[in-house]
Amino acid sequence: MNKIIVAIDGPAGTGKSTTAKILAKKLGVLYIDSGAMYRCITFLVLKNNVDVNDVEKIISLAKDAKIELSDEKVVLNGVDVSKDIRTLEVTNKVSTISKIKEVRKILVDKQREYANENSVIMDGRDIGTVVFPNADFKFFLICDLKTRAIRRQQDFLDLGQKISLEKIIMEIKKRDDIDSKRAESPLRKAKDAIEVDTTNMIIEEQVDFLFKKITNTET
Ligand code: C5P
Repeated sequence: MNKIIVAIDGPAGTGKSTTAKILAKKLGVLYIDSGAMYRCITFLVLKNNVDVNDVEKIISLAKDAKIELSDEKVVLNGVDVSKDIRTLEVTNKVSTISKIKEVRKILVDKQREYANENSVIMDGRDIGTVVFPNADFKFFLICDLKTRAIRRQQDFLDLGQKISLEKIIMEIKKRDDIDSKRAESPLRKAKDAIEVDTTNMIIEEQVDFLFKKITNTET
């Protein structure tokens, strides 16, 4: 297979990461969770008690951050933060941090580096529009709000955080709102992206749908 780039975008909780991860294994390509990178910077901001308005300090944290992504874990400055970056606290702040233009530039540069020598599947919000506008395949996942919230609730439970559905619905709505209205690289479906509604799909179906599009094996 020639080198390929697959972009998977969409709002929170549509199943992007789970789909992308399995798909990457099936295709034997690198999976990059770009959201994890924004979460890492947000985690650093909270850990160091940095004011979210202290943009200079946040940029310097982003510049110095050493983020290593693999299928199994996310390592930040030498420490495994796979679980720490998924907490409600980080989730609630991440959209504020990811609005910062300079932070985006630093992370987008890193994201593009991954694709220099590898075939990649990357999921996020601006992958098909900004990071890889020439991606070979672009998908935009959507899903109804309640289904997304139920999936997220399970993710938090897996981390040991029991959170009400109402609270999660509020969090998702707020995050999608900030992500899609921000000036810099807002969440948007690329014109040439294939929209996939995952509301009534199980993960295997989502993976299968994308896999067939990519390998051109639709029946
Ligand atoms: O995908 P995930 O939910 O982990 O993303 C967390 C947050 O990171 C998003 O809500 C968004 O604010 C930010 N993000 C972004 N651009 C990306 C990926 C994630 O702004 N490409």
